[in-house]
Amino acid sequence: MRLLLIEDEEDLINTLSRGLRKVGYAVDTATDGRDGLDLFYMNEYDLIILDLNLPSMDGLEILSKIREENQDCKILILSARSNYEQRIEGLDKGADDYLVKPFDFGELNARIRNLLRRSFTQQSSKLKYENIIIDMAKRTVYGENNENIDIRPKEFAILEYLIMNRGRVISAEELIEHIWDNDESMFSNVIKVHLSNLRKKLSQHCKEEIILNVRGVGYTINEGESEKWLIGYH
Ligand code: CA
Repeated sequence: MRLLLIEDEEDLINTLSRGLRKVGYAVDTATDGRDGLDLFYMNEYDLIILDLNLPSMDGLEILSKIREENQDCKILILSARSNYEQRIEGLDKGADDYLVKPFDFGELNARIRNLLRRSFTQQSSKLKYENIIIDMAKRTVYGENNENIDIRPKEFAILEYLIMNRGRVISAEELIEHIWDNDESMFSNVIKVHLSNLRKKLSQHCKEEIILNVRGVGYTINEGESEKWLIGYH
């Protein structure tokens, strides 16, 4: 999942981008409103974290412009406590949630998880397929006997994106666009290496392939016969 963070406080942007990358997101940042909007036009984002008071272009104006183009991208507003009216206006203009500054990183992370998962399933954070349990909140995969399968952060990000988009075939280009940010150097064969490693690790615990290769098109999650996936597994 790829996030865009538009916020003019350098310290906050550094702390947040470091924290969000650590929990597995690709993150692009802008400290200026217009630059942030340019990044939105250039790349595909799953979620945008938007400050309201920004240089060169106001957050609410950015919000309107984003919504003219894209209704699906989740938008979380960051606002100062005093900007109550702006916050309401933001929600009216199509923001999905807001967080009042100062806030705790854990709170932001939980809100982001909730927004990204909303379209997919309301409460569940665990999925089961054959012997494999995928804990979306902990970003951890378990095999038989609750054995921890060593999945690298980028491998998990690929798995997560495919699961969030079940029922669609995802091209390598789309995976790259949603899993790597502008700061990371990216070579087209890297995705193949990550996918191959991920599939190898999963196949040790699962008779059927969880990720299917659709030749010439991309990758998709195996829906399995008759609802093999258990969502909301505890
Ligand atoms: Ca600001």
